[in-house]
Amino acid sequence: MIGISHLTTGLLIYLFLWLITIAVLWVRELRRIKKHDWSISNNRLFRCHSCHYSFLVKDEHAHLTRCPRCNAMCILFKK
Ligand SMILES: [Zn+2]
Repeated sequence: MIGISHLTTGLLIYLFLWLITIAVLWVRELRRIKKHDWSISNNRLFRCHSCHYSFLVKDEHAHLTRCPRCNAMCILFKK
């Protein structure tokens, strides 16, 4: 027969495992959001010299990309 102390211990273990699961899922979600997050910086902002269209690129280290509007090559010069 299960006593009160065993029932309490079982509930505490269940609650503890549930909190660990929530914490793991939360940390995983925070990492995923940080990985795919967009941020505005001068390294990501390109301006097309042909059509004067400004756009952001995903790769922060890219120095050369194509304009999404007119498909011209855009070069980001370091300032
Ligand atoms: Zn363009």
